[in-house]
Amino acid sequence: MSHNTAKQVNENQCQQCMPLGGVIAFKGIENAMVLVHGSQGCSTYMRLVNVEHYNEPVDIASSSLNEKQTIYGGEANLKKAIDNVLRVYQPGVLGVVTTCLAETMGEDLDRIVADYRKERGETGIDIIPVPTPSYSGSQTEGFWAATRAIIARYARATEKHDRINVIVPHISPADIREIRRLLDLMGCAYTLIPDYSLTLDRPAGGKYQKIPLGGTRTEDIARMPGAPLTIQFGETCPDELSPGRWLEQQFNVPLVNLPLPTGVEATDRFLLALQEFTGRPLPEALALERGWLLDGMADAHKYNAEGRAAIYGEPELVYAVVRLCAENGIAPAVIASGTRTSRLAACLEPVIANLDERPELLEETDFATIEAASLRAAVNLAIGHSGGKFFTERHGIPVVRMGFPIHDRIGGQRILIVGYAGSLSFLDRLTNSLLEAKYATYRERIRHQMGITGGI
Ligand code: SF4
Repeated sequence: MSHNTAKQVNENQCQQCMPLGGVIAFKGIENAMVLVHGSQGCSTYMRLVNVEHYNEPVDIASSSLNEKQTIYGGEANLKKAIDNVLRVYQPGVLGVVTTCLAETMGEDLDRIVADYRKERGETGIDIIPVPTPSYSGSQTEGFWAATRAIIARYARATEKHDRINVIVPHISPADIREIRRLLDLMGCAYTLIPDYSLTLDRPAGGKYQKIPLGGTRTEDIARMPGAPLTIQFGETCPDELSPGRWLEQQFNVPLVNLPLPTGVEATDRFLLALQEFTGRPLPEALALERGWLLDGMADAHKYNAEGRAAIYGEPELVYAVVRLCAENGIAPAVIASGTRTSRLAACLEPVIANLDERPELLEETDFATIEAASLRAAVNLAIGHSGGKFFTERHGIPVVRMGFPIHDRIGGQRILIVGYAGSLSFLDRLTNSLLEAKYATYRERIRHQMGITGGI
């Protein structure tokens, strides 16, 4: 696998900013609000990206730093912003994430929050500061850092119980719901974090609430150290950011780090881990779904063999999709992520060791680099978020959208790629995109090959 890392200047970046990942993690906590310490522009961008993707109102507060605070410090603004959030939203949890500006100014978030507590006394909320300078990472690092900080805030040494911990990466609300469904079918009690399956995908109806219902309960997070097991879908997450590793190191909770359950092998691994833990066999409903996936794979393999894919986005999703493609005969020709800190390359090595062709791996990369690599590799399919639309449109390459953000289609929050059923519907989308492109162009190709100038 040839392996290229960052260049000095990005052209059309392949990642979102670090506090944005922190915002999404906090949206998965019950009765939580999030405040971005920085300029209005940063929080406006984060609101916009989230609203376009989730098609929901996504409130994100800002300390609204301007030129004056940039020079003299943003402490007063941050304290006033916290006051305002308390008055308007009355959250139980307030995440405070920082922007490039606040970090460059050297704002001491811990000290400001500690002072705020001293000055205001008991406010009834937990304020959780998370430094998220975007020049140190992407939304992926921000998501893991915030999830870990949230767990570290609440986790307490507690009596042992039988509720397992399930830690998810930045996946869609539909994927979270599917993982919950699999856990329920296996008869597991669990605490899943962060759970934004309802908060960022609200059903219509009912009374509008400023902070939507749903999210992981803080009292459940507090009991995570007493769990018999943590299952974390985070093989690409480095140890220094890993919430599951933190629980293992601090409280000796055994960690089972798994790839996302996308494709037969990865879903089998997840469900086998649950079978071992519960001692229960695979339920008939899931055995049927597994059989349908295998049947669908057999139906599709002859078409997939023509696929050459560029797969890009956040490391854990890229890793899952590369595995699915390799399992189904689609060559992962270009593998790319804008994220800096991940174990993606190491995780991919055994997956691609047996492929006929070594893919090109691009990390901390941009779309100009992905475009050039895709042309060199003659890809005929792109799989990733909406950021890839510009280069694919230029070259007539179909994009199967998944990941974050999806801003040029609806339903980003409903894109499902996990479980046997989710893998099959996603695989059908990949195969059908190859077929659609094939049937849209084959007459032209035959005409060209035969030197025919009129229509066929
Ligand atoms: S300035 Fe930094 S924190 Fe603000 S939107 Fe840009 S990358 Fe994100």
